[in-house]
Amino acid sequence: MSTIVVVEDEPAIAELIAINLRHAGHEVTLAATAEQAQREIDAMLPDLVVLDWMLPGQSGLALARQWRNDPRTRELPIIMLTARSEEADKVSGLDAGADDYLTKPFSTNELMARIRAVLRRKAPEALDDVVEVAGLRLDPATRRISCGERELKMGPTEFRLLHFLMTHPERVHSRSQLLDRVWGDHVFIEERTVDVHVKRLREALAPGERAWMIETVRGAGYRLTHQAGVTAA
Ligand code: CA
Repeated sequence: MSTIVVVEDEPAIAELIAINLRHAGHEVTLAATAEQAQREIDAMLPDLVVLDWMLPGQSGLALARQWRNDPRTRELPIIMLTARSEEADKVSGLDAGADDYLTKPFSTNELMARIRAVLRRKAPEALDDVVEVAGLRLDPATRRISCGERELKMGPTEFRLLHFLMTHPERVHSRSQLLDRVWGDHVFIEERTVDVHVKRLREALAPGERAWMIETVRGAGYRLTHQAGVTAA
């Protein structure tokens, strides 16, 4: 399940988008102004923002630029909406840091498809797609993990951690990155908490003989690998 902030000052359009997103299983927060949107983002980083260009006061375009200049929101997936259809506007929207751009009036099916595409590219852990790495299969919709015929049991935190690692395999994640992406960036937890959950995750994977997939990369963090027998330096 993913969290999406919809920034749109026209209530009818905002509601239409919200209904469709909720129907697709997303958690939606609405904001009608740039200031309200900023407050939502300050409180909790969502998985994606649908951002209208024309807002009362500060424009969506200026807001997108502002987010791209802040390290905390630099990677935030943004889909920009606009009533303008000129090529130059599309270019400024993408230049300001939007990941995609949609001209009004748009079909909600198209918006849903674009949202999935952007999430798949930038935050695949926010989607309910089944992930499979090295015979290990994780289904977010049914919350089941299996290895061949064997079902593996684990707690909700280990599940989220594994989901994040499986959707970003072979990459090294520091403890603070894992805290931000798995626990949420406004949660104050000590970094060693990550080690505790990694240990539990390896224990949960052991019955499927997959504990080796979670590698410790000394001085850097953790990595999920699909190749057995490759030890980290
Ligand atoms: Ca508007």
